[in-house]
Amino acid sequence: MQFQRLPLSIMKSKFSAFFLIVSLCTVGFSHAQSVDALLADEAAIRNWQAGKTVSAESVSAFCEKSCFVAKPIPDAVFRLMQGKSFPANATIKRDDLRYLQVLHYDAKGKIILGELVTNKAISRDVLDVLKVLYEARYPIERMVLIDRYGADDERSMTANNSSAFNFRFVAGTRKLSNHSTGRAVDINPLYNPFVVGKTVSPAAGRAYADRSKDFVYKINADDLCVREFKKRGFEWGGDWKTRKDYQHFEKKN
Ligand SMILES: [Zn+2]
Repeated sequence: MQFQRLPLSIMKSKFSAFFLIVSLCTVGFSHAQSVDALLADEAAIRNWQAGKTVSAESVSAFCEKSCFVAKPIPDAVFRLMQGKSFPANATIKRDDLRYLQVLHYDAKGKIILGELVTNKAISRDVLDVLKVLYEARYPIERMVLIDRYGADDERSMTANNSSAFNFRFVAGTRKLSNHSTGRAVDINPLYNPFVVGKTVSPAAGRAYADRSKDFVYKINADDLCVREFKKRGFEWGGDWKTRKDYQHFEKKN
């Protein structure tokens, strides 16, 4: 349609009709997701497109079998991990690890598809903790595999990405980290940095090393996340004395 060829009065009436329809649709469908959006969410859940936001409606319709599950590492995930979080010299077996599909809320109240790789020995505990946190709408901003950041911990932490397995050494040492066995989980790492002396990791989290302040995504000593991990035998790095790792939860045995 070419508006410039229509008389002004007809243009006005066409615009009015258009806006009336838009208004009606907005009022009529404001509480229901469109069919297309619902189908897109269904596909995202079925294919587990980690990082994607989905609606509460799609979660109740399609989530029964695929949310909050731990699986053997799928082939496509393992291909992504090889040479990154799972380097050639990794001393852990693929079969000792599990791929977790979970849901989490961010601080804006959006529901997001999350993914995590942990040791199979703690996968049930981690699923249970994350389910409790989800049901309480405890905010976690991002939870995709660290491989999506090239297994670069600094980059992943700076993006406030929560993660678990990564075959790597403790920063600045030759000691294997508990992330190397998938027995440690980092939650909201940008806002809950690792602090020792004047060193803050990630560097972008320096402002959040001051724990007297209050801010979004902060893990407090008495909050639900700490309580739920501790209840299942995890240590919290915020309790350590000589260094503080506010994002870190681990269960050695
Ligand atoms: Zn950690």
